[in-house]
Amino acid sequence: MNKVLVIVAHADDEAIGCGGTLLKHSDNGDKIQIIYMTNGISARNTLIQEKEQKEINKRLNAQQQACQLLNTDKFYNYDFPDNQMDQVPLINVTQAIEKVIDDFQPNMIYTHHGGDLNIDHRIVHQAVMTACRPQPNSTITTILTFEVNSSTEWSSTSIGDYFMPNYFIDISQLQTRKQQLLAYYQPEMRDFPHSRSIKAINILNQWRGNQVGLERAEAFMLIRKIV
Ligand SMILES: [Zn+2]
Repeated sequence: MNKVLVIVAHADDEAIGCGGTLLKHSDNGDKIQIIYMTNGISARNTLIQEKEQKEINKRLNAQQQACQLLNTDKFYNYDFPDNQMDQVPLINVTQAIEKVIDDFQPNMIYTHHGGDLNIDHRIVHQAVMTACRPQPNSTITTILTFEVNSSTEWSSTSIGDYFMPNYFIDISQLQTRKQQLLAYYQPEMRDFPHSRSIKAINILNQWRGNQVGLERAEAFMLIRKIV
């Protein structure tokens, strides 16, 4: 049994980037925990307006439904400031992740690509890499980064390395269930042909599969593997 820890900036990143893969882990009886670093709506220490609170609640509700479908063992909601995680000392973000790693002792980590356009994604990647330093007795043997539509492909090489996947998970049989997962996050989705539309995510999964002779896949960069 694997102990899988997913660390994302926003609720919906996990569904877009590795939803099919997590469904597979869940089917295999693996234990999944997810850390959401921001509420995706507001900055911390600002007065939350009623409208904002409604949006936060809606997103929380979607997240809970997604976690239920994924049979998530536990999830954490941190309140780091949305789209402003660069305003927080990196050590605070790192320690928040380390705390969960200490408790859960995962062997697999899924997180953001370090070259994404979204600042929160990049900060989360840095903090995860710091929290997952390969020290003696670390339980972590696999670190994989995923792509998130309208952030990973919208970046440039002046921001960070381009996403070049070298690890593919076959999700050919999981299309309907991934679609269901994404449907919970409908308010975060845009209309096709926006790259952050359910149809575009589906097309990306088809293309990633086709790149390696499969019908559908989710693509990753393998950052570290210890066997
Ligand atoms: Zn995000």
